[in-house]
Amino acid sequence: MSCLFCKIIKQEIPATIVYEDESIIAFEDVNPQAPVHVMVIPRKHISTTLEITDDDNELIGKMYQAASKIAKERKVADSGFRLVMNCNKDAGQTVFHIHLHMLAGRPMNWPPG
Ligand code: 5GP
Ligand code: ZN
Repeated sequence: MSCLFCKIIKQEIPATIVYEDESIIAFEDVNPQAPVHVMVIPRKHISTTLEITDDDNELIGKMYQAASKIAKERKVADSGFRLVMNCNKDAGQTVFHIHLHMLAGRPMNWPPG
């Protein structure tokens, strides 16, 4: 398995981990697009949102709960934050292990670029 995020999970590649539990880990994005930019990922390898099955429904909910916990810890829950999961080329997905981008600390544009 040559997945970059699986390597981060296995600690074969370093990352600044900000949250972890039995099914989720979260770490600082190496190329942050906002003052807060955290990757929230499942330990289970799922390539894109298209591969999510009924077995994963609880796991996906936990990703959102983890993102909310991090937002509270970083004191951006009230000011606001954006959760984004890109899927495939036109959305700009570059790492094929699903991840929630948790972005905060500045006003976000809408529609996104
Ligand atoms: P995508 O473009 O697939 O939606 O998002 C992938 C994200 O992973 C990007 O924001 C990118 O900066 C981040 N990323 C890529 N490689 C690494 C890495 O080696 N370490 C960390 N911490 N983030 C990475
Ligand atoms: Zn993976």
